[in-house]
Amino acid sequence: MVMKWTADKDLDAFRKYFEDQWLLSLPFWYEGSANLSPSTNNGLESLNGKIKLMYTLRNKLSLSSFLQTAERMSYDWSLASANTPFAIQIEFTDDLAARAYQLLQKLDRTKVLHLGAASYVVPSSEQKTGTSLWVQYYHSMSRNSYNEFIDWLNSARLVDFSRLTPPLFCSCKYGLKEYSCVHSLGLLMMWDHRKVPQPLGTRRGKGRPKKVKLALTKD
Ligand SMILES: [Zn+2]
Repeated sequence: MVMKWTADKDLDAFRKYFEDQWLLSLPFWYEGSANLSPSTNNGLESLNGKIKLMYTLRNKLSLSSFLQTAERMSYDWSLASANTPFAIQIEFTDDLAARAYQLLQKLDRTKVLHLGAASYVVPSSEQKTGTSLWVQYYHSMSRNSYNEFIDWLNSARLVDFSRLTPPLFCSCKYGLKEYSCVHSLGLLMMWDHRKVPQPLGTRRGKGRPKKVKLALTKD
């Protein structure tokens, strides 16, 4: 495209600007440049939603009331970050454990590949590229189109256990956001590093378990 623009005299000035700005001085602006890292502005949107819901109530404020509201917001948020600090531990919930166990039942274990050090590649449910091809693309990083990149990205998850303890890294959207997901927990169960939850269907019945057995049975 740059070559096409260079050929056009009128576009050449723009070509120079584009090249300086977006190829040379800021080369990593595009989706996919920071591989396997979060790429949404969900945090920003969530905060924006809270401002509308709790502070401005979707009204356009005059400058004086805006300043008062802004002061109140920064006061509230400063207190909130002191009162509820960042979590320093990850808890795996029972629900996550049950879903990880379900994933493990469907998982073709021969497709789980060891990538190197403590990294593993797990096929995803929306797999379009097999895991060995996925690894080749991971190393070469060459793609012909954005869609090809997205298909590759969604075909497998990269799980990293180099920290040994939670938070564990996984490239799926839950792993990136919550540091715990079915893939990392599923692999831990596969290697018997974590106990498998009580299988579904053999749950205890309703009510309190009977303590008193039948009178004539031996213990
Ligand atoms: Zn995951």
